[in-house]
Amino acid sequence: MTYVITQACIGSKDTACWDACPADAIHPSPNKSEFADHEQMYIDPTECIDCGACEPACPVEAIYPEDEVPDEWADATAVNADFFASPACNTASN
Ligand code: SF4
Repeated sequence: MTYVITQACIGSKDTACWDACPADAIHPSPNKSEFADHEQMYIDPTECIDCGACEPACPVEAIYPEDEVPDEWADATAVNADFFASPACNTASN
C-alpha cells in the first residue's frame, strides 16, 4: 500500500509532509528549484513505507492511505504514480 497526496494539496503545497516523511518518498523537494514548477506534491508509491507520518502533518488534510482516498479525488493514486513514471521527472534529483 501507499499513501496518496490528493488534489487538495493544490493551493497549499505545505511542506510539513515532506518534513515528516522518514523515507524521502515525497517529491518534489522544497529544496529544489523544480518545486515551484509543480502545483502539488506527490508520494512515490515505490518509496513509501506506509508509516502514516505524513497524514496528520498535512494542514489541509490532503493525504490519505490509497484505500481511503475520497471519491472526489479518485484519480489521485494514479496521478501520484504517473508523476514518477513521467520521463521528465527525475526523482533522484527531486
Ligand atoms: S506514509 Fe510515511 S513513508 Fe509514506 S509518504 Fe507518508 S511519511 Fe512518507
